[in-house]
Amino acid sequence: MQRRNEHLESPGVVYRTTCENPGCGHTFDLRITAKEAGLLGGTMACPRCRRHGGMLKRLGRLDDRLFVAKLVYKVTGAGASVPGDEGDLLSDIR
Ligand SMILES: [Zn+2]
Repeated sequence: MQRRNEHLESPGVVYRTTCENPGCGHTFDLRITAKEAGLLGGTMACPRCRRHGGMLKRLGRLDDRLFVAKLVYKVTGAGASVPGDEGDLLSDIR
């Protein structure tokens, strides 16, 4: 891991994110600044397995500017046992 001293004061917060894609499980640090805050409401791709459509979910706080998060994907019977608290979205479609 390389660090450059270009910014002594780093803006934003860091999300220590774990990819929930089955078979990946990659953990990476995602730095979110005010410019990138829009990421939190949308979807993004995992930098390792490159699966698109992951939604960032914040799980908790580790430090002042360090959060734990996971990248979750819509479960469509792929065998992932993620307790979906967003299943209500599907129940509207009948
Ligand atoms: Zn991944």
